[in-house]
Parts: sequence; C-alpha cells; structure tokens
Amino acid sequence: MDPQAILERLVALEKEVTYQEPPVNGGPPFHHQPGQLPVLLSAPHGALHRRGDRYKREDEYTSALARLLGERTGAHVLYTFARSDDDPNYNRDSPYKDALARLVAAHDIRFIIDLHGMSDRHKFGIAVGTMRGNSCLPQHRATIMTSFQDGGFQQATAREAREFPSLRWERFVVDHRSFTGGIVNHTITRFAAEELGIDAAQFELCAAVRIVRQVGSRALVDDYEGDPEGIMQAVATFEHMVAALA
Ligand SMILES: [Zn+2]
Repeated sequence: MDPQAILERLVALEKEVTYQEPPVNGGPPFHHQPGQLPVLLSAPHGALHRRGDRYKREDEYTSALARLLGERTGAHVLYTFARSDDDPNYNRDSPYKDALARLVAAHDIRFIIDLHGMSDRHKFGIAVGTMRGNSCLPQHRATIMTSFQDGGFQQATAREAREFPSLRWERFVVDHRSFTGGIVNHTITRFAAEELGIDAAQFELCAAVRIVRQVGSRALVDDYEGDPEGIMQAVATFEHMVAALA
C-alpha cells in the first residue's frame, strides 16, 4: 500500500461530504456503494445528524473510511454524504435503517461493520462494541479480536485505559461500558442483530486513527491532523477483518 495515495484518497472522499447541508436534490442523505462480498460497511454519522432538537457533529472521515475500505475489499458500503434529519444510530425507525434492511436482503449480507468516531480523550484507539457478545457469533467476535492483534493493536481493559497518561491509539477495548454497541439505545448494531437477524459490531475510532486532516464542520476553527501511521494501521486492519469475515 502506498500510504500517501491512501491518505490523499481519504481526503478526496471526505471532501464530497456536505456536513451541514441536506441533500441538494431532496433525496436521502445516504448512498449505497455496491460491492461483491456479503459484508457491509456502514457510516451513519458521516455528516451532521439530528438527535432530538439539536444537530450532532459528524464522525469525521467515517464515510471516507467506509468508502475506501469498500473500494479496496469489495464490501458493500452504506454511508451518509449530507446532513440527516434523524439519527440512524439512535432513532428506532430511520430511513437509513430501512435502506440497510433492503440492502441486506438484496445482497445476502451476513455481517455489518458499523463505523463511528470518538474523541482522543478516551486515550484508546478503537472501541469495539458487540452488545457484550450478543451482536455476533463467538467465532466472529474472535475473528475481530485476531484481526486487531494481527494488525498491531493490543487489547486493554477499561481500568488499564483509565491509567494511560495520554492517548495510546494502538490500544483497543471491547465492550467498554461507554461503547457497548447498543444495550438500551437503538443502534445500527442492535437493529442488525435483533431486527435483521444478522451479525454486526460497532467500531468507534479515535480521531488520531481516522482524521487525515480536518475538512469537516470544525475545519475553520481547528486544524487537527491525526497520526498517519495510526490511520494506515487502522485501514490495513479493517481490510483484513473484512476479508476474514467474508
Ligand atoms: Zn457515531
């Protein structure tokens, strides 16, 4: 992999997102990027989304990451490219969830990888949520763990992570109490497992392993840049995971 080409591709894909504007044609704020594998990458928070009476900021670069991984692996992708007037990872009923259900049926999807962004302040790189083991089969959960370990990430407990002096993006946690993937909330992962009857997991990526350079709704007030090595390590790990799950 040519790191520079991959990082620039992520920036180019991310620049297509209109974070604060609804779709110009009045259609849905998400697209399907077709693939050939029975795995679907989902990015429901790629742009602003409304929860209750306020808009929440995008999980920047999750749409770009999902699309890049789709291009490189052949997985299907459902990603947001414009502002949503609901929160597909929170509202029980959502046009995004309806689209997901149609895609799963039409393409015999067996696994959904739902991508999100979390802050660096948690001090770990990635939080995997499997609803405490209820969103996927044990062997799929094991495949996810092995993919991270083979990709150079090490598992940490919540207690260990609390004691990190600063961000350690190469560490991941599984079913951390703040990132369960959905026990009470109507997440995409829970919808997949309970309503669609297929396996899924939620992945929260810290900013350092996701944001090449800020272009989103905060770009004018913040010039944050993630760690290129961390982003490349995350891309390679998810590529292997998609292949292993397929
Ligand atoms: Zn999110």
